[in-house]
Amino acid sequence: MVTSDYRTVLEQTLAHALNYLKNLDQTPVSATVDLKDLRRSLSHPLAVGGVDAVQVINDLVADVEGGILGSAGGRFFGWVIGGSLPAALAADWLTSTWDQNAALYACGPAEAVIEEICGQWLKELLGLPVIASFAFVTGCQMAHATCLAAARNALLNKRGWDVERKGLADAPQFRILCGQQHGSIERAIRLLGFGSDHVIDLPTNNLGRLEASALATALWEDRHSPTIVLLQAGDINTGGFDPFAELVPLAHASGAWVHVDGAFGLWANASPKYKHLLKGVEQADSWATDGHKWLNVPYDCGYAFVADGAAHRASMSHRASYLTHDSDAYDQIDWNPEWSRRGRGVPTYAAIRQLGKQGIADLIERTSRHARTLVGRIGALRGAELVSEAQINQGLVRFIADKTGATEVDHDLRTEEVMAKILQKGEVFFGGTTWRGKRCMRVSVCNWQTTNEDVEQAINAVRKAMDI
Ligand SMILES: *Cc1c(COP(=O)(O)O)cnc(C)c1O
Repeated sequence: MVTSDYRTVLEQTLAHALNYLKNLDQTPVSATVDLKDLRRSLSHPLAVGGVDAVQVINDLVADVEGGILGSAGGRFFGWVIGGSLPAALAADWLTSTWDQNAALYACGPAEAVIEEICGQWLKELLGLPVIASFAFVTGCQMAHATCLAAARNALLNKRGWDVERKGLADAPQFRILCGQQHGSIERAIRLLGFGSDHVIDLPTNNLGRLEASALATALWEDRHSPTIVLLQAGDINTGGFDPFAELVPLAHASGAWVHVDGAFGLWANASPKYKHLLKGVEQADSWATDGHKWLNVPYDCGYAFVADGAAHRASMSHRASYLTHDSDAYDQIDWNPEWSRRGRGVPTYAAIRQLGKQGIADLIERTSRHARTLVGRIGALRGAELVSEAQINQGLVRFIADKTGATEVDHDLRTEEVMAKILQKGEVFFGGTTWRGKRCMRVSVCNWQTTNEDVEQAINAVRKAMDI
């Protein structure tokens, strides 16, 4: 009885899912309906009576039509968005089916062990210290929040201040030094009560890399305040990397904590071809990255790693009389900001097993090659300009207004115009950004499915939009 209740709706859902995936290649990658349409199609009245489960699913699939971006497919190059590997997607379905509360070993024994094993695998793949502690969180932003909570604990502990008990009021004031940063860092800083006024922006070069001399000067200006240095592995625009081998020892010499935002770029360490970009990164104190971007695990999935496991645990752990802790097992609640949570490690476990080390290296190198081709070939079109080559899987181009005496404003407008035309056609999806004052089109390749044909089709779509 119960089984048949599930069977019909799950079989129907499988059919919908397969149909979606099969048609992905022919469906527009951008939305074909607007906000008004979606509100209209999705706002069923809040009924007194319920609806049959199969109808709920059929309606859902019909009602979202045109409002699902093609980010699961191979011609989506917006933001930094990965797809889902088959094993990862299937494991995600099973995670929902098992519906464990992965807060404690006692609540979900197998999922606790899966995370424990995955944590070790990830450290090996990403070239991080084997002793580092870890947490599976919703994304890189919450990984920042987790890592920086550990930083707050450790740096204040050194100054005789127990922040977990006393809070931040009257504690020594933090300084946060950074170069080019993703907005998620600022939000993590606000959540933790550091205050965004205490972030000091340092000058960077044209790849967005922080200069050692600028960091050294800032570190020496104040050697007493607890200081966090934020470094980047993979700039969102250029894919650039901070020179870790140079910067981390410098920061440590003045007692600072070094946190690395490696949302996608930390994955370059899984590739023999690109790992040189991350030289010295393993000396940092904490690292944040994502599974839902380059590893192609479904949303949501981020990873936090902390070299000082004791500080990490002290900032997160929880004990309550009604919880059962197994002293030997990995209780996620001791490392995560959440209480109840899904078994977030399961799709990661499946993704890593599906690809293996070689498969992951191939994924990183293949997508980076596609990005380089796209940026190089689009940048070489007449009327286009290469702004930043793809160091890894991110790069920038822009479009040039074809008139005498054209100004930067004209080029910005032309860039917007071409991007809007590309989106309207819906064959390929690119996002925009402003880099060093110029409007640019971002090229970001993260999806395991992108093929050479997708790249050719994308370049053609850009040419059509440019009218050349
Ligand atoms: C995407 C991204 C983030 C934020 O990650 P979420 O998973 O969205 O929380 C942080 N830093 C960089 C460089 C990113 O690309």
